[in-house]
Amino acid sequence: MTGRVYLVGAGPGDPELLTLKALRILRLADVVLHDELVSPAILALVRPAARVVNVGKRCDFKRVSQDQISALMVAYASAGQTVVRLKGGDPMIFGRAEEEMAALRAAGTQFEVVPGITAALGAAAAAQVPLTKRGVAPALLFVTYSRLAGQPPLNWRALAASGATIVIYMPGSEYGSISAELCAAGLNAETPCVIVSRASRNNQTVLASTVQQLSGISAQPAPALLIVGWVADSVARTAEIRALEEMHLVHQA
Ligand code: SAH
Repeated sequence: MTGRVYLVGAGPGDPELLTLKALRILRLADVVLHDELVSPAILALVRPAARVVNVGKRCDFKRVSQDQISALMVAYASAGQTVVRLKGGDPMIFGRAEEEMAALRAAGTQFEVVPGITAALGAAAAAQVPLTKRGVAPALLFVTYSRLAGQPPLNWRALAASGATIVIYMPGSEYGSISAELCAAGLNAETPCVIVSRASRNNQTVLASTVQQLSGISAQPAPALLIVGWVADSVARTAEIRALEEMHLVHQA
């Protein structure tokens, strides 16, 4: 009997944002291979008898390679085990699912994909920012700032001209460069932005700015992502009101 592999999305961190299906599969897994991003609160839901392997360990001196992760999945499944490959957010968004699915197909291993709530949606909820807005933002783009060396650069002009809300995953601490790229591409420098760190976790933070002000922002606690667009103007207004409140210019009800 060969086992099965489940590529499961763990969502942005809050265990309550797991799907019922993800929870059911986590509870029956024999082996869980998880990324660094998966929160401890979610790993606590795994069956105690299961083998849990962090395949994303960054501080390890030998990082588990993508090929090794695929080989592990195939090997455990051929030994009859139920394997969960647990990824932050959704497996199909910036999650290298394509490489893992290709390896599983090549080995003839049965697999299923269980979606999760991607970080952009966790961040939108945390910041109370809609990602689309009637008459303002008719489209939504998910882009990654971190790219492989040698890949063509992002087409910033096309992004800026799209009128879409832009969610930038993996911004690192490059807010200055992102600001410069967006301004050079012709985006209005006053366009509101919001950086959400650790969305849906109890230490989440939300920082409002504009494309121009982004240039003065340093690294934010990881994981973080950046939402750019007029959908975020309410966050800036709330921040302004809060600042006025602190200056005692506005009285709280
Ligand atoms: N598959 C994941 C994304 C993996 S890329 C998903 O669908 O969410 C990793 C990036 O996702 C991080 O660098 C960060 O930009 C973003 N991210 C993941 N979890 C996050 C969280 N809880 N809050 C903010 N950003 C997060």
